[in-house]
Amino acid sequence: MMASTSSSHVSPSRIAVALANSSNGELLERLLGQTFHLNHRFFDSHANHTQEADLVVIDVACLRHYYKLIHELRQHASPMVLPVLLVTESRGTPHPHAVEELGTNVDDILRIPTTQAELQARIHNLLRLRTLAREQDDARQQLVGVVSALRTLSACDSIVVRSESESELITALCQTIVDEEGYNLAWIGFQGTEGDSALNICTWAGPAHKFVSDLKHGLDQKSECFDMISQSIRSNTPHIVNDIADSLPSSEFRERAMTHRLAAAIVLPLNTETAPPGCLTIYSNRTDHFDHNECQLLERLAANLVFGLNSLRTHTVREKQAAEIHYLAYTDELTELPNRRHLVHYLNSILSALETQENNCAILFIDLDGFKLINDGLGHEVGDEVLRQLGQRLQATVRDSDLVVRQGGDEFLVVMNGTTRDGTSRGPAAIVGAARRLASRIIAHLSEPLTAGGYTHHLNASVGISLVPEHGRTPTLLIENADKAMYEAKRRGGGQSYLFSKKLADSRQHRFSMETSLRQALKQEQFELYYQPVFELDSCRIVAAEALIRWPQDDGEVLAPGAFMPLVEELELINPLGDWVLETAARQLRDWHHQGLYLSMAVNLSINQLYPNGDAQHFADLVTPYIDPSWIHLEVTENALMEDPVETEALLKALHDQGFQLAIDDFGTGYSSLSRLQHLSIQTLKIDRSFVNELSQPGSKSGALVSIIQKMASSLNLHTIAEGIETDQQRQLLIKTSTGKAWGQGFWFSPPISAIEFKRLTTTNTSTGVLDPTHPQKSP
Ligand code: C2E
Ligand code: CA
Ligand code: CA
Repeated sequence: MMASTSSSHVSPSRIAVALANSSNGELLERLLGQTFHLNHRFFDSHANHTQEADLVVIDVACLRHYYKLIHELRQHASPMVLPVLLVTESRGTPHPHAVEELGTNVDDILRIPTTQAELQARIHNLLRLRTLAREQDDARQQLVGVVSALRTLSACDSIVVRSESESELITALCQTIVDEEGYNLAWIGFQGTEGDSALNICTWAGPAHKFVSDLKHGLDQKSECFDMISQSIRSNTPHIVNDIADSLPSSEFRERAMTHRLAAAIVLPLNTETAPPGCLTIYSNRTDHFDHNECQLLERLAANLVFGLNSLRTHTVREKQAAEIHYLAYTDELTELPNRRHLVHYLNSILSALETQENNCAILFIDLDGFKLINDGLGHEVGDEVLRQLGQRLQATVRDSDLVVRQGGDEFLVVMNGTTRDGTSRGPAAIVGAARRLASRIIAHLSEPLTAGGYTHHLNASVGISLVPEHGRTPTLLIENADKAMYEAKRRGGGQSYLFSKKLADSRQHRFSMETSLRQALKQEQFELYYQPVFELDSCRIVAAEALIRWPQDDGEVLAPGAFMPLVEELELINPLGDWVLETAARQLRDWHHQGLYLSMAVNLSINQLYPNGDAQHFADLVTPYIDPSWIHLEVTENALMEDPVETEALLKALHDQGFQLAIDDFGTGYSSLSRLQHLSIQTLKIDRSFVNELSQPGSKSGALVSIIQKMASSLNLHTIAEGIETDQQRQLLIKTSTGKAWGQGFWFSPPISAIEFKRLTTTNTSTGVLDPTHPQKSP
């Protein structure tokens, strides 16, 4: 507890006088009475009431008489000093006993008679002794107070620093104040938010804690206690009532306070930077307990509490902000599902945990088939609604321990936890099974009809699966591989799942790099047409050329169509590329015609150039600026003709009407019926290489087969071209079976070659060319 500071002594020093000789007493009164307050009856009355003395002047007789009392008084005064001046008659030597007392119960001996100056000097000396002792005691007491105050402050400071929540802070602080400073009660309360000035007592401590319920009962009413508190908060200054019984008017509050032995109170406002304000109120069972020093200590303490509250509240605000930032950064705004950033974070933690524990899991990459239609057709709002609903469905399909993520667009991902429901971790094989089952559930669930924007939608999902850690040691690779697997699932028709594999990776890797260069090649016309001569089987005269596309690479390698055409089809680049081929072939043919080389030109058409929007006029427009379409044979595979019989028939007729010659490519590999062939506007059958290849093999039935095809073709008035003639023997056999002048092509004569080489070849082959330059060669 704080000590009171030394009081300054303005009143005259009090001297207790005990002299047996009354004339000595009168003399003393004369000499000192002006300056000091002499009490000649100090010892008479001492037993009755407590009087204070700063100095005792006594003679030997009285000392003997009051010896015990003086001894007690001096002891009682300790650590203060009650100086004693012994007066002896100068006539005799001082009593040996008195001299003995010097230094124990007597501080100085003065012989009388003496001068006034001598007497005053002696008395001043002794009083100085007392003053010094008092100052020393004050200093010591103050030090005790300071130490105690510092202890309280530091206890409270460490609470301020340590506390992690507001309630922890105020509760611990109340308790510590009471414990350290010995108060009867301390409580902390805050005003309500939104201008509600009623005080809400949050925490309290101390033996008189029951008083709080009385307070709580009466605080919201207009009590003087309430006034005192709100005034203190408003003015932001402490309010002290040092004697509740005396200074408060009689009221229930005062009565209650008295019952709980609360004698003094102090209200310390707690005005924090952030609303709401409040106060710390302390009660003592001692009146005047809250003196200047105590008040200073408590103000400092309250200031520290405010500091603590401020920093905790700012901390809470910051934490809230941090949480909000985290939410925004790691959540997909539309579906409120975790986003890709979250996924990467999550996968990183799984991957690093793998170093210490086995925790295999699977990543499911989910893509919606048909979402684009909704988004493009019905607008983004409907699209967004669909995505939200699908996100919820996904969430409902997986276990709580699985993570559902929206990566963007219509792509969702699920990280399937590798542990079973009972917490044991699955082995790699079991994970594959579980992931496939989950994928099926997801596909089934997502394909259930869904209503959004007033329409019912039927969507389909494709799921790609990658395994952690088998299919990647980084989140990016794992996601990418699941994506590749999903793409494969889509490629296989969608509505199914596909597990990633190394093999898929290689082909996909290739595909990705090829896709970019393909698009570039098309833009920069990096393709080239090679031409394979078509010759008359018996005369070996070149009668036509088949244009075959090539893709020269930077390293000099020339890619054949098998290496890139499937991707061209997949990327839907076949139409622009097909147009380029047709136009280039037509231009080349015009050049040759200009050079006197009157050949026909065969150009391959893909099924995707015919369906669904094949336009005969468009093909004619590409060709006519250079050459009459009747010089062009359009080759369509047998299988392409199977797609849509009615439409095919119409389209082929339209093409023929434009003047084009039409050929069925790879004939014999498909299922076209003869009756159908009759209805089609076709002029040529190209007998597939596989039959020609078998011709020379012993015991093969191909000879008979080719012969039948040739006969049939002839009966339908169709011209035949045998493909893939690699030996002269094959050529001879074909001549034998053919009914008229048959044509052929193959490596025996020439592989596909560049336009320049082709030109060179025709000059060495003297029999090249048709006889009638005004008309393309017709079936012989
Ligand atoms: P296709 O129309 O049946 O073309 C004949 C293919 O057989 C060519 O392969 C040619 O190089 C090859 N060939 C020719 N003689 C022989 C031989 O004696 N033995 C063997 N083993 N093969 C021979 P290429 O050039 O690789 O073309 C493959 C396929 O790509 C073509 O088959 C055609 O369907 C397609 N294609 C080529 N160019 C184009 C094009 O510009 N557009 C479209 N849509 N498809 C094309
Ligand atoms: Ca062909
Ligand atoms: Ca062919």
